[in-house]
Amino acid sequence: MFHESSKYLLHYPGLNTAATKVASHNAVLLNKHLNVAPSLGDVPHDGELSPIHGLYDAGMLLHAGTYAIRHGFGGIVACFNGDDLGCDVKAVERILQAYQPGFEIATPMMHMGQRSVLEELGARRDDVKFVSCMIDFECGWCGKCKRNRRVHSEL
Ligand SMILES: [Zn+2]
Repeated sequence: MFHESSKYLLHYPGLNTAATKVASHNAVLLNKHLNVAPSLGDVPHDGELSPIHGLYDAGMLLHAGTYAIRHGFGGIVACFNGDDLGCDVKAVERILQAYQPGFEIATPMMHMGQRSVLEELGARRDDVKFVSCMIDFECGWCGKCKRNRRVHSEL
């Protein structure tokens, strides 16, 4: 689930402040540095549920890649799964490669569906936590909570 080669975790805080706390907990648990990204202004940082969120993801990915290049890294890992709307990762990668040839955006979870991600996270025994809700701890009504409820009912 967590790319072994990663040295730093980059978290984009959104409306759900619990997600930042969970990211901090996981970084300590995994012995990784956590960088909390600066605000991207009025751009929400979590979504993958509609085309506009796919556009926001493209902005976040470009920002993360620029951040990585600025700090001397040769690539980033993006944790989109196969059910996320996501964005055109290869297009963003090509933009970044214009500035740093060979820059890579790895998407190791793209072959997994949301169901597989939830099953794997649920099976972990190492206290790695996750929160998916866009608003709060499992608000129940945001787009991601509704999606996860649908996936859980199929498990
Ligand atoms: Zn929610």
